[in-house]
Amino acid sequence: MPIYEYQCGGCGHALESLQKLSDPPLTDCPECGKPTLQKQISASGFWWLVWRWP
Ligand SMILES: [Zn+2]
Repeated sequence: MPIYEYQCGGCGHALESLQKLSDPPLTDCPECGKPTLQKQISASGFWWLVWRWP
């Protein structure tokens, strides 16, 4: 399972989340409660991207 990094566009809070591939991406920030989370590319999840991109 890849680890996704998220950062909130509203308050700047950052977090990591271990998610299944079938899980929908997180959108709500646990800090400020706004749906402004944006998915980042993390080093720990990079292998998965490399594997997907031929
Ligand atoms: Zn926030």
